[in-house]
Amino acid sequence: MECDKCGDSAAVHAEYSGLHLCEGHLCQAVDKRVRRRVREDGLVPDDATPEDPDTWVIGLSGGKDSVVLTQILHETFDEDPRIELVALSIHEGIEGYRDESLDACVELTEDLGIRHEVVHYEDEFDVRMDDVVEDDPESMAACAYCGVFRRDVLSRYAEELGADKLLTGHNLDDEAETALMNFLEGDVRQMAKHFEASLGPFDGDSRAEEDHGDGDGGDGGGSSDAATDHAREDQDHHVPRAKPLRDVPEKEVALYARFRDLPAHITECPHAEEAYRGEIQQLMLKLEENHPGTRHSIMAGYEELASLASSAQDPDDEATPDFGECERCGAPTARDLCRKCGLLDALEAV
Ligand code: SF4
Repeated sequence: MECDKCGDSAAVHAEYSGLHLCEGHLCQAVDKRVRRRVREDGLVPDDATPEDPDTWVIGLSGGKDSVVLTQILHETFDEDPRIELVALSIHEGIEGYRDESLDACVELTEDLGIRHEVVHYEDEFDVRMDDVVEDDPESMAACAYCGVFRRDVLSRYAEELGADKLLTGHNLDDEAETALMNFLEGDVRQMAKHFEASLGPFDGDSRAEEDHGDGDGGDGGGSSDAATDHAREDQDHHVPRAKPLRDVPEKEVALYARFRDLPAHITECPHAEEAYRGEIQQLMLKLEENHPGTRHSIMAGYEELASLASSAQDPDDEATPDFGECERCGAPTARDLCRKCGLLDALEAV
């Protein structure tokens, strides 16, 4: 098959758009979608200046998603002094897994000249995930503990590093799975929370302004058409998050990393086990195979619903928790003791 753009040999067929693309045009299409998402979500604030840049901390695991995100953001903003990038990696204490992916993080950030910080669970909490899995005081999957610890580290260090935004490498498949899980659980409040935490634009007008004349244009797919001029609220208890890779299917992220020869570490964590998400993944693969474009249409509808749910939220709603501080560590929480401190107590008691 030939590339629909240049006639060279095609490296990929994107069923959802019908396009065949060569290596170069696939990479161009991915770059374009990430840059469009950055514009549409209004990530670069009007008041960012070279003297007072907007600092973006990128959660860099060394896997393909965060490596590709870091590479594209570096190429986009290397010459723009209004944006400062810092990479933050976490070592969970997983033997034979994280060391190799951290090597990939070091190689990438040294190549790009980006500041890179590494935080270890062992230093922060005196726990290693390999031991947590053994002790398992709450009879939970490893990822349930690990996710709580990771959120804590990312939030605290993002703040410590002076982040204005915390960026993560979630791709289209990740986000469509999360959306479907929220649909199936009927959790409208979670949808509103998702919008406020990471989906909603920072500037409600940016999408409408940027959309004119910039449709998919045959670039192999793009952001959803769920235009909303509703912006997310400022959240004073968290550094706001964003996911600029969320319009790019996982397979294309993997191909981008391979075609650009990026130092991504492609091995699954030995403790990965999220039973429900695993079922949703299988369902999504089947749906996408039989009905190409399903992930994009799920996200289009979900973003619109999440935006409506967010704008309809009543601040006096009793189900909307008031955030206070954890009485032990000071982290934002709606309870006396935050979830992380509760888990650390349970692990200590084993
Ligand atoms: Fe942690 Fe689960 Fe990710 Fe492994 S797969 S690093 S246990 S969240």
